[in-house]
Amino acid sequence: MGEFSLELNEDQIQIKKWVHDFAENVVRPAAEEWDEREEFPWPIVEEAAQNGLYSFDFMAQALMGDESGLTLPIALEELFWGDAGIGLSIFGSGLAAAGIAGNGTPEQVMEWVPQCYGTPEKIQLGAFCVSEPDAGSDVSSLRTRAVYDEAKDEWVLNGTKAWITNGGIADVHVVVAAVDPELKGRGQASFIVPPNTPGLSQGQKYKKHGIRASHTSEVVLEDVRLPGSCLLGGKEKLDEKLAKAREAMNNPKVSSGKQPAMATFEATRPAVAAMAVGIARAAYEYSLDYAQERVAFGKPIIMNQAIAFMLADMATRIDASRLLVHRAAWLSRNGTFQNAEGSMSKLHAGRTAVWVTERAIQILGGYGYTREYPVERWHRDAKIMDIFEGTEQIQQLVIGRAISGQRIE
Ligand SMILES: Cc1cc2nc3c(=O)[nH]c(=O)nc-3n(C[C@H](O)[C@H](O)[C@H](O)COP(=O)(O)OP(=O)(O)OC[C@H]3O[C@@H](n4cnc5c(N)ncnc54)[C@H](O)[C@@H]3O)c2cc1C
Repeated sequence: MGEFSLELNEDQIQIKKWVHDFAENVVRPAAEEWDEREEFPWPIVEEAAQNGLYSFDFMAQALMGDESGLTLPIALEELFWGDAGIGLSIFGSGLAAAGIAGNGTPEQVMEWVPQCYGTPEKIQLGAFCVSEPDAGSDVSSLRTRAVYDEAKDEWVLNGTKAWITNGGIADVHVVVAAVDPELKGRGQASFIVPPNTPGLSQGQKYKKHGIRASHTSEVVLEDVRLPGSCLLGGKEKLDEKLAKAREAMNNPKVSSGKQPAMATFEATRPAVAAMAVGIARAAYEYSLDYAQERVAFGKPIIMNQAIAFMLADMATRIDASRLLVHRAAWLSRNGTFQNAEGSMSKLHAGRTAVWVTERAIQILGGYGYTREYPVERWHRDAKIMDIFEGTEQIQQLVIGRAISGQRIE
């Protein structure tokens, strides 16, 4: 186990600068246009692929080549400081990659994670499909069914997934489905749906409040047939897990193993919290500059304690969020979570992003409320941080269970 340190190593300092430069020079100047167009920003993601930021290699370095766990949150904070909609378009495939890495065999990881990115010449996308119209927070109630056809060693998937980032435009869809619905969350498994598989199609594309450059759609699965090799983790492991879960149903003292979707969420929550810190920091820095320049009643508005105190609280909450994120990210690599620290980081950072961006509008006054200034966009973008990868209330639920000694799922 390494030591927790707030000091970044040489590699992390370089990565932070590299991602910041890309965010400042490429992402931020494009942010307004893609928010207005409400379309996936292909040229920007292509540029990110050309400079290596959108790539399997970078994700592998950030996820596997970093013992401290801090490289990914550091990079995400900078990227989302640039823009959250474009940031998610660049990072969205990472959710699918995390789903594969969390549940797949080493061979499946090596085969499918690179395909979530493609090459700089031909980029590909990944999508992680869990949520459904009737099952968002309650992921144990998934209706999408996976039925095994033993004669052909094939799985047949049917169902509809809702609010899927990159849904339908992705090349690789990772789909979580119920194999044994009676077992609820413990009867689920994750599947790879390879590119161009018949039966998978895009449903409605959602029009959103914020992160509008990121593509969010329904994914419809109609008799999607997959070879046995597309079951993440393999059949033997699934059978063992189902047997254990059935035993646990009859005997609560037996541990029933973890749910595949929940395993992925545990690993990704500090990353989402880092995105929230990036948005909040963008709004804080912008409003700090503005408060020093804007003159009202003959003096810069920051000379009013009311404004200075707002900025003081913004800075404090952002730093507190970052510390929670770095602790959670470090713990995810170095030991285990004790009190749902991943959920704590997301709860605090999500709320901070919403609060800070709202205060930023306040500091900019009428200008802040218009689309001429970016703070209203940052406020719209921030709200998703309280919703996806577990809502604010779900984080509280998980933390509540952890501090009262109940099982965290
Ligand atoms: C832009 C966007 C992108 C997304 N990307 C993806 C993706 O790539 N993949 C994916 O699988 N999903 C994705 N989602 C789905 C997202 O994870 C869900 O929307 C989220 O988990 C909430 O589920 P829900 O919308 O069904 O809300 P519900 O579960 O219906 O919740 C509604 C409200 O009830 C509260 N609530 C529910 N249960 C409880 C409880 N037990 N106690 C207290 N309060 C409760 C919630 O906190 C919330 O306030 C995305 C969503 C959006 C909007």
